[in-house]
Amino acid sequence: MSALSAPEGIVRLDPKSLRIKRFSALTTMTLPLIGTAAAVYLLLTGQFTTTDVVLFFLFYGVHLGGVTIGLHRYLAHKAFRTSPWFQDVLMAAGSMAAQGPLLFWVATHRRHHRFADREGDPHSPNLHGTGFKARIRGLWYAHMPWMLSDESSKWSVYAPDLLRERRLILHHRLYPLWVTAGLVLPTAIGFAVGHTAMSALSALVFGGLARIFVANQAAWCVGSLCHAFGSRPFDNGDKSTNNWWVAVLTFGEGLQNNHHAFPGSYRHATRWWEPDLSGWMLTALGRLHIVWNLHEPSAARIARKRTGAQRVSP
Ligand SMILES: [Zn+2]
Ligand SMILES: [Zn+2]
Repeated sequence: MSALSAPEGIVRLDPKSLRIKRFSALTTMTLPLIGTAAAVYLLLTGQFTTTDVVLFFLFYGVHLGGVTIGLHRYLAHKAFRTSPWFQDVLMAAGSMAAQGPLLFWVATHRRHHRFADREGDPHSPNLHGTGFKARIRGLWYAHMPWMLSDESSKWSVYAPDLLRERRLILHHRLYPLWVTAGLVLPTAIGFAVGHTAMSALSALVFGGLARIFVANQAAWCVGSLCHAFGSRPFDNGDKSTNNWWVAVLTFGEGLQNNHHAFPGSYRHATRWWEPDLSGWMLTALGRLHIVWNLHEPSAARIARKRTGAQRVSP
């Protein structure tokens, strides 16, 4: 890697590191897409079972629970604490999402918060110009192609706390194993239920590949659509928005304007009726003493910030 360039902590990758990054990103984009095409074919020709549908939704839950509760609210924002065994569960589940190894994920995400919608934000849809075509290009870039860029967030700048945790470094290195486990597990369950090669294959397609594609498309809408369309109840100085249908699909992550207002909160909802499945699950896990020290802003702080936003809104 070369020397630091402005903004702080962003490095240009050397040709070999860039090839590895792009190969890894393209693989996690294209293989699930091929699997999704196979799933659509099986659906249209009636060649699927109830087990396949159950596995799709089961692993969709593991995938997004792992990303939103594990990688995002726990690891990137330290919004709560938990025991080593549950941390292992969260890190394995989050890695199964195939969104990159832990240090990459956290460093990228923290950089997104530091520079939200300004130069240095790794995936803002708002830095590509103002015309219609430029807006579409920005939305597309923030959705997927940003993963192919030749820059990287320096771990020692954006994730120094994680570099000191040997257990987390182990999970970072086990990333390929966890991604593979996220494909093997549904395949094994499908075979155990159906006892045929076809039952194993369709379980791989639905619980593994199509699940990765659909869940990640929803997750990447948080970086693209939720910095462009929706409501802005809080003035965060960025373009983050709350978008309900993305929030439903991503277990609360679509409440992006709330999250940028209170990034350290374990909840993304600021009102009880805002859809935040991960926040609700964390409240339940807190009652079971599986997680603790759940951080959230006081009602008064939320109200103050909301009133301030109304004052500055046009
Ligand atoms: Zn954001
Ligand atoms: Zn965040």
